[in-house]
Amino acid sequence: MTIAAPAETATGRLGELIARAERLYEDLDFKAVAEWKSKDKTRRAIGFLPVYVPREVIHAAGGLPVGIMGGGDQTEIVRGDSYFQSYICHLPRSVIELLVSGRLDAMDGFLFPSICDVIRNLSGMFKLLKPDKYVHYFDLPQNFQRGLGGRFYGHEMREVATAVGRMTGIEPTDDRLRESIRVYNLNRKAIAELLKLRVDKPWLVPATEYYLVLRAGYMLPVEEHTALLNEYVQLVKDSGRRPMDNIRVMVRGAFCEQPPLALLRTLERAGCYLVDDDFVVGTRLVHGQVAEQGDPWDALADAFMHHSLPTPSVYDERHTKGELLVRKAREVRADGVLLMAPSFCDPALLDQPMLQTALEKAGIPFTSFKYSEDTGQFQVIREQAGTFADAIKLWGTV
Ligand code: SF4
Repeated sequence: MTIAAPAETATGRLGELIARAERLYEDLDFKAVAEWKSKDKTRRAIGFLPVYVPREVIHAAGGLPVGIMGGGDQTEIVRGDSYFQSYICHLPRSVIELLVSGRLDAMDGFLFPSICDVIRNLSGMFKLLKPDKYVHYFDLPQNFQRGLGGRFYGHEMREVATAVGRMTGIEPTDDRLRESIRVYNLNRKAIAELLKLRVDKPWLVPATEYYLVLRAGYMLPVEEHTALLNEYVQLVKDSGRRPMDNIRVMVRGAFCEQPPLALLRTLERAGCYLVDDDFVVGTRLVHGQVAEQGDPWDALADAFMHHSLPTPSVYDERHTKGELLVRKAREVRADGVLLMAPSFCDPALLDQPMLQTALEKAGIPFTSFKYSEDTGQFQVIREQAGTFADAIKLWGTV
């Protein structure tokens, strides 16, 4: 019998872990969710669209929150196109395709956060196509006073919790919600460790691996995801991976429709370390820890209103997004910023001029391009990102 040396064992384990996360990413039939449900007939899964829902509320009512992020580059659109006009983003077409082809059958309900008109219309189509399922357009507050936006948001959260509780037979009590906040706090802590490691030593955390382990959180029960993140961080710390001559870039604009995995690989091969981004942003929209004492509904509302990342889908008059972007770029020591937005994404593209003005003023180099979740040709983006990286390496600017 051959006993593997510790380093070989660690490398093998890292490979297994990434392979598992990749299988979850490719699981567009949501077989993992069906398998989770098969273990107990009272289990219910609630699919949610980008960008963010307070998953604690679903968890407290005994449900599994499952992120539906579109069909990526693996879904052939057969019927999805006939539901939408040409000049909108790709995500709703592939989501409709998943629905009408039965690939979302494992879901017992759907939440559509209020991020843009496209998602609003999509929720209406789900209501028409699946009248037997729970479909809720989840209004997020655009006012950040506790007595106004906070009260409204608390009402929205309770409505969802009650609806999910009716399906599972589990009452989402305050104590249960506090416990859910606690387990999600552990998840936030694990994500924060991963983000910090990437800023400190980006060569340890390749962009595709980072993306896959983060995205696994949209499929796995939160406790399993936290364990996966913690193990990943430990394994890469021990991996002995070496630094490369890459520049450090931040990515903004990819907050909803997700870029294909191959695009992330392309950016890295073009000489960019991604040290900050807004991919799968719902996993960490609320940053820091949510209060585990006191009224848990207020705690979640406060966290969203006062401790969440800026996204194009939220209008917050207290802050200027450009200033926040510049501050973050300095914090993560970014050499430059990639403004990459999904084609026809109004919220992301409307934010861009503001962000560009702030970056210009701060003297931070940037470049911009568009993608869609099924983009298949990367040569042009590779040349653009490569030139951007080379110019920064040579002259410190573009
Ligand atoms: S990609 Fe942009 S336009 Fe499309 S659904 Fe998302 S936020 Fe809306």
